[in-house]
Amino acid sequence: MAAVTASPQKSDRSMETRGRLAFEIRALELEYREGSRVTRPLDGVDLQIPRGQFVCILGPSGQGKSTLLRCLAGLLEPTGGHLLANGVAVEGPAAERGMVFQQDAIPMWLRVEDNVAFGPKSRGVPKSEYEPRVEHFIEEVGLAGHRTAWPRQLSGGLRKRVAIASVFANDPEILLMDEPFSALDYFTRSKLHRLLTELWQETGKTICFVTHDIDEALVLADRVIVLNEGAIVMDETVDFPRPRGEELRSHDAANSLRERLMAILGGSES
Ligand code: ADP
Repeated sequence: MAAVTASPQKSDRSMETRGRLAFEIRALELEYREGSRVTRPLDGVDLQIPRGQFVCILGPSGQGKSTLLRCLAGLLEPTGGHLLANGVAVEGPAAERGMVFQQDAIPMWLRVEDNVAFGPKSRGVPKSEYEPRVEHFIEEVGLAGHRTAWPRQLSGGLRKRVAIASVFANDPEILLMDEPFSALDYFTRSKLHRLLTELWQETGKTICFVTHDIDEALVLADRVIVLNEGAIVMDETVDFPRPRGEELRSHDAANSLRERLMAILGGSES
């Protein structure tokens, strides 16, 4: 990855501060060229994400959210700027960065318990090491009664629980989630918001979560980043008490932030 270097040329922060960053992103660009047509889904993104933060990347469709997440995952190679994960240049996918997609991208030919064990098993982690984690996260996500079920026997919400248990059982330091709950109904989504918040609080992982839904961001995030035409146009701390749910609707600070987000997103809808 020629354009993405491991050592920032200039930094006024100490190594200690940098060591606490899950991501250090500077002037990140991604450009596509087809003949004379140039598209730039990422157009100079600057962002530092401390370890353990829950960041929602918000915006209407076509603003570069998925592209940014895929660059963080190492699935897309930026054409300019710096991108460090845990202080090291991103040069492709790595087990330290787990991904959850919108689609049910779980192996349909594996029973639930084998699905959850799939990541660590295929990385050659000893069974004695991964088995307790697999067991723990099957319990945590509420799949204890479905251990031997096939994915096709599960509802969309339960399959999403399999995906969540799988990514946590693989023990990445960072979770990258691309609209994982957008195909689910409101009640299933609310339950999964609570579950994900609990797992994040229990494990202290860094989470970068792409969504186009303002309320989903307000329920989940420590911090909301708004992307517009490949650049960050808003970066807000979200420090309302947790757990968050319907009560956010009568929370003044939440309502004020929701209005500001609606104003900025309303102006950028494509
Ligand atoms: P979002 O996740 O915010 O919906 P995306 O990151 O998927 O947005 O896409 C951002 C922009 O980049 C869109 O205009 C999209 O059409 C464009 N884009 C994405 N992939 C490609 C590609 N392979 N070639 C050309 N343009 C692309």
